[in-house]
Amino acid sequence: MRKVYLDNAATTYVSSEVMAEMLPCFNTIYGNSSSIHSFGREASSIVDRARDRVAHAINANKSNEIYFTSGGTEADNWAIKGIAHAYASKGKHIIVSSIEHHAVLDACKQLEDEGFEITYLPVDKYGIVNIADILHAIKKTTILISIMTVNNEVGTIQNIKAIAKTAHEYGIIFHTDAVQAIGAVKIDVQDMEIDAMSMSAHKIYGPKGVGALYLKNGIQIEPLIIGGNQERAKRGGTTNVPAIAGFGKAIEIAVRDLSINQQKLKVVREYFVTMVKERIPYIQVNGHPHQKISGIVNISFEMIEGESILMLLDLEGVAVSTASACTSNALEPSHVLKAMGIEDELAQGAIRFSFGKNISKSDIDYVLEVLEKAVSKLRSISPITKAGRR
Ligand SMILES: *Cc1c(COP(=O)(O)O)cnc(C)c1O
Repeated sequence: MRKVYLDNAATTYVSSEVMAEMLPCFNTIYGNSSSIHSFGREASSIVDRARDRVAHAINANKSNEIYFTSGGTEADNWAIKGIAHAYASKGKHIIVSSIEHHAVLDACKQLEDEGFEITYLPVDKYGIVNIADILHAIKKTTILISIMTVNNEVGTIQNIKAIAKTAHEYGIIFHTDAVQAIGAVKIDVQDMEIDAMSMSAHKIYGPKGVGALYLKNGIQIEPLIIGGNQERAKRGGTTNVPAIAGFGKAIEIAVRDLSINQQKLKVVREYFVTMVKERIPYIQVNGHPHQKISGIVNISFEMIEGESILMLLDLEGVAVSTASACTSNALEPSHVLKAMGIEDELAQGAIRFSFGKNISKSDIDYVLEVLEKAVSKLRSISPITKAGRR
C-alpha cells in the first residue's frame, strides 16, 4: 500500500546527513564528554561543535548561551519554571498566550499551585496575539512573557520582535517556544531581542529526545535537573553526545535549506488547499491567511469528526493528525482552535496536515483522492446534516 506521511509537525524522519553525523558517536567516539582523558576530550569537541552550530543557526552572540536538553518539552519547562524561580523575589506574575504547547501551559499550571499568577492571553480568530492585550496584562510584578513563535496546530506566526520589544520596555524577560519555527522562519535571537528560546531536534529531521534552551547571558535561571556539573552546571546528566551531534547537524541543514524548503512547501500548500476547496464542500481553513508557515495546514470538515477522518486516511496509508499528537487520545476540542473562537463542532472536525521536505505532487494527489472519498463516506453516514445544522 502507498504510504504518505503528513504528520511532520509531530515528528520527522532523521535525514541521512544527520544519521551520518551521529553514527560514529555510538561506538567510535563514545567517551563521556565530561571525562578529562582523550576519549572524553574527543566527545567534548563533538559537543562543542554542535553547540557552535546551534548558536550560529539562531545568531546567538556566544555559543555558551546554548544549553542542551532532552527536547522542547524540557526546554519549555525549564525556561518557565527556572526563570520564574530565579526572579520570584522581583514578582510572581507571568504572561503567556492561551495557544501555547502544553509544555508551557502545564508548567504555568504548576507555578499557579506554587502561588504564581498567570495571565493567559487571548488570540484573534487567526491565532495572533495582540500587543494591546499584552500591554493591558502587564503589571509591576510581571517577570516573564512567553509566546510561541509558530503554533504547532495551525502554523500561525506571531510578531515576536514587537512582543519582545514590548516586554523589554517594561524590564520583563521574554521567552519563546521556537520548536516549530526553526527551519520555517528566520530566527535571529539578537535582532528579535529574544532572551530565552526553546528548540527541539526531531521536528527538523534530527533525533528524538534532544533539544536546547537558548539563554542570553545575564538572564538568571534555576536548574530543573540537578546532579552533575554538565551544561555549565545548569543541567545535570551525562551529555547525550550522539543526539547532540545530530541536533547540531540538523539545525545547520534546516537553516541552510530554509528558503528552498519553504518555497517548495508554499507551492505544495497552495496546490493542496486549492484542490481541497475545489473538491470538498463545507470546509474551513483555520489559521492566518498569510502570517503562517507553509508546512502546516489545518482544515475543519463540517458535519464529521476529525478522528474518523484520521482513521479512514490511516487505512489508506495516509498519516495526519487531529489537534496535537499529545491530546489525540482525548476527545475534547483543541485548546488552540477554541482560543481562536472556532465553535466546538468545527474544532472536532479539524485535521492538521503537516508536510515534510520530501513530499511530492503525486503524494498530494493520492492524499486528495483518499481524503475526498473519506469525507464523502463519513458525511453520507453522519447524523449531522447541513440542513439540520442551520
Ligand atoms: C513538539 C513541540 C514541543 C515539544 O518538543 P519535544 O522535543 O517533543 O519535547 C514543544 N513545543 C512545540 C511548539 C512543539 O511543536
